[in-house]
Amino acid sequence: MPAKASAQTDVLLIGGGAIGLLSAIKLAEAGLRVTILDQGHIGQEASWAGGGILSPLYPWHYPPALLRLALYSMQRYFSLTATLLEQTGIDPEWIPSGLLIMEGEQEKIPYDVLAWGVAWGLDWHLGHPEGAQTLWCPEVAQVRNPRLLAAMAARCRQLGIVLHENTAVTGFRKQGEQLQGVETSTGFIPAEQAIVTAGAWSGKLLDETGNHLDIIPVRGQMLLLQGKPGAINTMLMRDNHYLVPRRDGLILAGSTSELAGFDKSITDEAREELLGFITQLHLDLEQIPILRQWSGLRPGSQDSIPYIGLVPGWEGLFVAAGHFRYGLTNAPATADILVSFLMKTPPPLDINPYAILTPRLAQ
Ligand SMILES: Cc1cc2nc3c(=O)[nH]c(=O)nc-3n(C[C@H](O)[C@H](O)[C@H](O)COP(=O)(O)OP(=O)(O)OC[C@H]3O[C@@H](n4cnc5c(N)ncnc54)[C@H](O)[C@@H]3O)c2cc1C
Repeated sequence: MPAKASAQTDVLLIGGGAIGLLSAIKLAEAGLRVTILDQGHIGQEASWAGGGILSPLYPWHYPPALLRLALYSMQRYFSLTATLLEQTGIDPEWIPSGLLIMEGEQEKIPYDVLAWGVAWGLDWHLGHPEGAQTLWCPEVAQVRNPRLLAAMAARCRQLGIVLHENTAVTGFRKQGEQLQGVETSTGFIPAEQAIVTAGAWSGKLLDETGNHLDIIPVRGQMLLLQGKPGAINTMLMRDNHYLVPRRDGLILAGSTSELAGFDKSITDEAREELLGFITQLHLDLEQIPILRQWSGLRPGSQDSIPYIGLVPGWEGLFVAAGHFRYGLTNAPATADILVSFLMKTPPPLDINPYAILTPRLAQ
């Protein structure tokens, strides 16, 4: 049956991952009537597959445009997740477990890292166990992303947001420059405002508008291990790999970074890579058996800086995509920026670095 959205819809969200769902909630709470279209099922792609670490990893690698989004978002996560728990009864398990970064072969901790952290208001501590160097980042929290998505989907339903699954957007229609609606696998849906929140698929979809955005799928694979509750209390990181211990004892080990197009296969090579990392940490694999392996497609972009703004040549069509490694982290800032666009209120932070036309220079 063709999806119907529009008579009662002010804005269509194309993609129901963390970015689409949280933006839909904020827009509905601001008073707009919202419909979400997803080509598959809500909250089953990258946002489900991710680790749920709420911070850039090795923050000193990134330009201010990424860090500003992240710090804005990190400061809002506790209240966001507490409110979702209260509203829906689903606990996204926001835990301020902190992140311990260990110097490895490839990733060194820079000598001026503490001064750098102070400049960003971060309370970091250096350690030197057994001659190696570690950096303790107490403000880094985690969220159990599949539960966060379930809570967000429940909140969407409470707000009367229309959710259409198995509805792929295939193109856009406009009159003059004004958006008229979207073509979908179930027929045309009229709409004067729409936002592309289609994660790794956004670049491909926006090609239909004549705008080429450098958003590419970057596959990440993860292992799920059975640990014991409380045995590891903090997140650990070394050479771009990490462990995320959940409250119930499950442990995530991630992740790989691979260019494999839209192929979501899992591979033996990735499993070996992640097992090698676990062994380096001197953890006994017999004590933490592997339960599962999976992959997800990150919406890859330069420096993980997303595109958030109007699509050139298309009045009423916006994009919020390309969050690469930090879409869970940066969802709150992204949603608040979108609300400012649609409600025509001042943006919560400088939006210029995220506009499609801004040259992507280091700043
Ligand atoms: C292994 C791994 C580990 C990660 N770890 C972290 C982490 O610890 N912290 C962090 O902040 N981030 C992490 N990330 C990155 C984060 O998951 C992504 O940046 C984020 O999920 C992107 O959210 P999204 O909503 O844009 O995309 P998605 O969650 O992929 O959602 C996009 C949605 O759009 C739908 N869609 C696509 N095309 C169409 C179409 N044409 N029509 C309709 N619907 C469409 C899809 O079905 C999907 O549901 C990780 C990612 C991976 C893969």
